[in-house]
Amino acid sequence: ARKYVVVNEFKGWPKREDFQIEEHELPPLKDGEILVKSQWLSVDPYMRVYSSKQKYDQFGYNVGVVVETKAADYPVGTKVVSHKGWCDYCILDTNKVYAEPHRTGKIYKLPVMKGLPDSLAVGAVGMPGVTAYFGFLEHCKPKPGETVVVTGAAGAVGSLVGQIAKIKGCKVIGFAGSDEKVKWLESIGFDKAINYKTADTAAALRAAAPQGVDCYYDNVGGELSSTILYQMNQHGRVVVVGSISSYNEDQTNLPKAAILQPAILYRRLTVSGYIVWDSRDRFPEAFDQIIKWIQSGKIVAKEHVTEGFDNLYDALVGVLKGDNIGKAVVKI
Ligand code: NDP
Repeated sequence: ARKYVVVNEFKGWPKREDFQIEEHELPPLKDGEILVKSQWLSVDPYMRVYSSKQKYDQFGYNVGVVVETKAADYPVGTKVVSHKGWCDYCILDTNKVYAEPHRTGKIYKLPVMKGLPDSLAVGAVGMPGVTAYFGFLEHCKPKPGETVVVTGAAGAVGSLVGQIAKIKGCKVIGFAGSDEKVKWLESIGFDKAINYKTADTAAALRAAAPQGVDCYYDNVGGELSSTILYQMNQHGRVVVVGSISSYNEDQTNLPKAAILQPAILYRRLTVSGYIVWDSRDRFPEAFDQIIKWIQSGKIVAKEHVTEGFDNLYDALVGVLKGDNIGKAVVKI
């Protein structure tokens, strides 16, 4: 079997030599274990934030199929989702439970996908879907007619947030990093999308939301987020789920932050952080609803597919650079 191991702490952008592909013999299965052949592996921005000071070999979500089993509940052919990392084959212990989510092999059976592709189990019907669903609905508490802004709008999480906001009757404005992304976002129902790399973002947002912004779903942080905060309405709600604009920067030398307190204070904003593990026991609730929305055509769950185990590194860097529209996944 082969697996990727992170051998160096990332400094700046992850480098190819920060990873090693290890080949190893898998031991015989013990009671409760299953041998899983990977079918889809996930590349996600959080991987960059894991600057691994120790050797790290459980890196990433995985959808696979059981090919050998010593667990009665998991016969051969069962499909499972795990966080066992970038491996082509792996052994999973079906009895394991979360201790520290990313470092354990917690698995669950593939949700009933009702005809949707299995790969969505690492996207809209997986961790990013849950992040969009609870992060937006429970922290932004959107009301019909309100104006919602989402950054990282053409990505896995952002594209779902914008579409959920439309379902909830909001006006939706998305920021993304290319004209192609802008076009796509408007084609799936965003009221307005803005290319933050080429636009005067403050002026473009004022024009798109002359009535101000009620909810901001923040995937990216940085200057763009500060600009948006200063266009929020009284009692606006902001949820911070990521800050990808600085993931590859030297964390000891980040640019001086804009002063945000006046925006928060005078507009009486509620700013909260959300991490998907806050909802760890509620994944199925989000999955059921998102599957229904996809099936009824209310949500488009686009994927950006890279082929091949050997291309995982390139796929990860691609996500950090913004090559993807929708969820980046790797087909094994
Ligand atoms: P995406 O599919 O959105 O991919 C990342 C995107 O980030 C890229 O496509 C790129 O799009 C954008 N990006 C890269 N650099 C910058 C930059 N300097 N400024 C603005 N945007 C940038 O990834 P996800 O949907 O999986 O994740 C989105 C965010 O949500 C990330 O910050 C991630 O860490 C966070 N997250 C948080 C979770 C939580 O539990 N809190 C769980 C899952 C994700 P573009 O072309 O538009 O620049």
